[in-house]
Amino acid sequence: MVSRVIPVDPFDLVIFGGTGDLARRKILPGLFRRFCAGQMPNGSRVIGAARGEMDSAAYREFVAEAIAEFGGERACEDGTLDGFLERMEFVTIDARGENGWSDLVELMRDDVVRAFYFSVGPSLFGDLAERLTKHGLTDADSRIVVEKPFGRDLDTAKALNRDLAKHFDERQIYRIDHYLGKETVQNLMAVRFGNMLFEPLWNSQYVDHIQITVAETVGVGGRGEYYDKSGAMRDMVQNHLMQLLCLIAMEPPSKFDPDAVRDEKLKVIRALDPMVPHHIVRGQYEPGEDEPGYREAVGDPRSRTESYIAMKVGISNWRWAGTPFYLRTGKRLKARSSEIVVVFKELNHSIFGEAGEHRNELSIRLQPNEGITLGVTIKEPGPGGMRLMNVPLDMSFAEALGADGADQTDAYERLIMDVIRGNQTLFMRGDEVEAAWAWTDPIIQGWEARGDVPKTYDAGSEGPVDAVQLLARDTRVWRKVAP
Ligand code: NAD
Repeated sequence: MVSRVIPVDPFDLVIFGGTGDLARRKILPGLFRRFCAGQMPNGSRVIGAARGEMDSAAYREFVAEAIAEFGGERACEDGTLDGFLERMEFVTIDARGENGWSDLVELMRDDVVRAFYFSVGPSLFGDLAERLTKHGLTDADSRIVVEKPFGRDLDTAKALNRDLAKHFDERQIYRIDHYLGKETVQNLMAVRFGNMLFEPLWNSQYVDHIQITVAETVGVGGRGEYYDKSGAMRDMVQNHLMQLLCLIAMEPPSKFDPDAVRDEKLKVIRALDPMVPHHIVRGQYEPGEDEPGYREAVGDPRSRTESYIAMKVGISNWRWAGTPFYLRTGKRLKARSSEIVVVFKELNHSIFGEAGEHRNELSIRLQPNEGITLGVTIKEPGPGGMRLMNVPLDMSFAEALGADGADQTDAYERLIMDVIRGNQTLFMRGDEVEAAWAWTDPIIQGWEARGDVPKTYDAGSEGPVDAVQLLARDTRVWRKVAP
């Protein structure tokens, strides 16, 4: 199967923070892969912009090194790298001062799409937006891309939205949540809304509960100081897990159109029940054999920030009232695994008696081994009566789709091309982000007011024991955290 590459218009993409970690690991290698795929039309350029002194020749070397390290396995023809590097330029620029802006003005062209990627800390978003307009670098068709974290609470998110809205229309602002660019996450929508099979059952009448797990094996690593100010709630739940929850729970949009999809996601966030403390378990990992524990890693022996969180979330609307959503995410867990599992209710009557008691589970694996599995009941083979067993109807994308399934486009590549195309479907709207913080803020404030101390859990385990009890109280069990 050959994937179709849909061409985009020629563009000038300016990456503020073009020498940073994100540019090096994700943005530049991603653009290179799009170039190799033939999706970067002639006349398109990438302009790195950052504080450090560097010329375009040195930037090309920087980009070549980034691609060598993070470019992935994808084979490109000889000479392709040179062709890509020719499209790279660099300007030294100060987001907070006047240095370098006239150089950027000189470089930019009028007859191409202009996109500006803010791959810098959020404290610079307002400065960049202001200087872009002040120097006449943008028009009504220009786009800006902003990275997470989009605020650390409702007030800061509102302030960022206000700063950007002074200079840009909402349809020009692309707020990245790279989870939305993942192939399987988009497949959630395809599975739900492209098949007759699931949607009639997709409600509290047929669904017992839903589990969303994003487990990591790594600890906080070198990001300890940053992470300790954030924690799993701000770093993962408010954005990534909330987005997954929305895609699973939302009503079918009338069409696959950016605002139609985002309107439906927003309704889900607004229908979330306020959280009660005993529906949340927070955890911190203990030292492992070869790695420090959480508190040591962040350099604060009294830290109360969570590296793990599990929660039982309710949605008060007609579709979902009574069906809990269990969310969990954490670091230093047993396996790296992201998965959504829809657990259907038991048959209301089994003609096979107790032996026929069974529930279907639909599991959507985001990583690794992207794919979908549906657990179904069949007859156990062989003579000797009617015995039933559960088997997986298993579809691994890599197996089903061959090379295209295994060699999936990275989230950043897809999202950057969507920016150039002017398609906002996979980006968060300002009101969505604010609604997510409005739900999250009281939870965090509650922990702070109560001095809530996270439970400990063993490195390499499935999380704190209390998380098991959270489901056990409802006579349910978590799926194993397994690769
Ligand atoms: P970084 O510290 O590695 O790089 C920052 C970049 O910004 C550098 O190129 C630096 O020169 C530039 N910069 C800093 N101050 C500047 C100024 N005053 N004027 C002009 N340029 C300036 O940061 P990063 O890890 O690349 O992260 C960038 C943004 O992306 C942050 O908001 C971060 O939270 C977000 N993010 C990063 C990752 C990641 O994997 N690194 C993942 C998700 C989100």
